[in-house]
Amino acid sequence: MTEAVEAGAPASAGPDGAAAGGPTDADWAAAVAAVRELRADARVLLICHVNPDGDALGSMLGFALGLSRLGVRQLQATFPGPAGVPEPFRWLPGVELLVSQDDAYPDPDLVICFDAASESRLGDLADRLATAGTALVLDHHASNTGFGTVNLVDPHAAATSVVALGLLDRLGVTVDAATATGLYVALTTDTGSFRFEATTPAVHEMAARLLATGIRPGDISRRVFDTRPFGAVRLFGEVLGRATLEPAAAAGHGLVWTYATHDDLARHDQPAYVLEALIDSVRCTAEADVSCVVKQSGEAEWAVSLRSKGAVDVSRVAVGLGGGGHRFAAGFTGRGPIDEVVESIRVALSAAVLTPRS
Ligand code: 5GP
Ligand code: MN
Repeated sequence: MTEAVEAGAPASAGPDGAAAGGPTDADWAAAVAAVRELRADARVLLICHVNPDGDALGSMLGFALGLSRLGVRQLQATFPGPAGVPEPFRWLPGVELLVSQDDAYPDPDLVICFDAASESRLGDLADRLATAGTALVLDHHASNTGFGTVNLVDPHAAATSVVALGLLDRLGVTVDAATATGLYVALTTDTGSFRFEATTPAVHEMAARLLATGIRPGDISRRVFDTRPFGAVRLFGEVLGRATLEPAAAAGHGLVWTYATHDDLARHDQPAYVLEALIDSVRCTAEADVSCVVKQSGEAEWAVSLRSKGAVDVSRVAVGLGGGGHRFAAGFTGRGPIDEVVESIRVALSAAVLTPRS
């Protein structure tokens, strides 16, 4: 569920260089104008990435509540794919604004995208980039392609919610507890509860500001990270029990991987999203720099999560295999037999080693 984001690393630009240095003053001004110039009857559609995580949903719903405080009345939030919100996020303030992709405004005046590095992460909703009057992109992936009319992409931001708060502040929105909840969930998700390198002084200052609204971090962490059905506990036991350690992989830095099929989920009567937390148990493995969970997403289709402790740039592996992400947390969709998907990872890993093994 958590994705490691590095801080202070050299910003690598997207293909067109859009993300290189974070938003300029002109980008912020254009984003503020896009919101301020909305007519009273304007329809605003917020979209986050497919299989939404805490940053996607938290930054989107937190921002949505901020927009409603500004007086935006025709406001929808959505994401591609099945409409169900993963249980850990169903209690988030603002979920009442969510609609299924089929009910989303076909031609909104303004569309705002959250935590999506490319159009492909918007699935069937990507067409709104063309039908909307203006497309505003809020994100923090260095690989962001700059697919909006206005792009607020800050590769140094620990989460998309850092960018969302930056825009709310510039719009003069007072951040209340409801808005703060989503932004805080996003921040804790993407910093691994303030454990990853992305946890800068600025991250703690933002957390302090959000906590000062009265939100309860213990309750939030328990709901988001520390609660799962007993069936999921048993499922994790089984899937972790077949994890494979390959010490020679990644030029000797080591790979640990496991997989979960639809059949595994069905046997334990669990929905697919419970598997998102699995990578956090797998990546503990001391003997491997790289960890990987391969999750069945179709007949011969697999959602692959990759993590690195620093020796390997897994975003290079993921991008090479059609996906994306950050240097130490990335993913892609693999097609074909699982053995071939894992072999493609082994091959790509040997080319993505950043530091030779000493
Ligand atoms: P996770 O493993 O938590 O699903 O994702 C880790 C990181 O990789 C996130 O930054 C996420 O946006 C990115 N990512 C995961 N899967 C894909 C994918 O299929 N395509 C792209 N472009 N990025 C992905
Ligand atoms: Mn994120």
